Amino acid sequence: MADPKQQGGGIVGKKVRRTERTLGVQAYIPEAAKGMGVLMKHFFNNTKELVLGQRNDPNLEALDKGINTIAYPEQKRPYPIRNRGLHRLTIRDDGSPRCVACLCCSTACPAQCIYIEPAEYPAGDARHGYERFPKAFVIDELRCIFCGFCVEACPCDAIRMDTGEHAVPYDSRDQFIYSKDLLMSFEGRDGSRKTQNTRHEPGDASHPGITRLKKH
Ligand code: SF4
Ligand code: SF4
Repeated sequence: MADPKQQGGGIVGKKVRRTERTLGVQAYIPEAAKGMGVLMKHFFNNTKELVLGQRNDPNLEALDKGINTIAYPEQKRPYPIRNRGLHRLTIRDDGSPRCVACLCCSTACPAQCIYIEPAEYPAGDARHGYERFPKAFVIDELRCIFCGFCVEACPCDAIRMDTGEHAVPYDSRDQFIYSKDLLMSFEGRDGSRKTQNTRHEPGDASHPGITRLKKH
């Protein structure tokens, strides 16, 4: 019977020839100098491109060159237009929140990460008796799953996810709890804090009013 050790012990393999250990390889210095040469070539090339503003757009150019590194954070890959960014609360012309504190968004939110405290506009305000406003409006962005249900549920286009931004990496959980003022300070991709969907404001001539007899 054949010796199993001579037969490879049942292991099937292929012999690979080891790299020849020439004097140059074993001395290390020529190989180290070669590596340093490649490093310096890239260093000077990158510095020249940076100084002369010749850097490639990593998303659109030099794709045929193989690996194309994005120099983050100086270069960022743009998000697709349908990306749901951080929430923002839209504002009216007078700077007040578009939100009428109806609680539709917080009811629709599967993660239960929206907290709203509604309040009445003071007597004498044209919106008194028609609409409420959010005294407090808080979103826990760490608990949010970015499903967009809140945006879909809102009847006033008061909450949007079109900032194109994502939360910055804070180092404590409470920093991810975004307040009303912060949410109202964000801009959409178009640079506006308002909504494109105008509404008839209470007090406007075009508003139907309490009788609902006016046409608009
Ligand atoms: S995106 Fe979804 S999870 Fe996040 S606040 Fe809106 S409804 Fe809630
Ligand atoms: S953001 Fe929209 S859905 Fe949410 S409470 Fe305000 S008006 Fe209602």
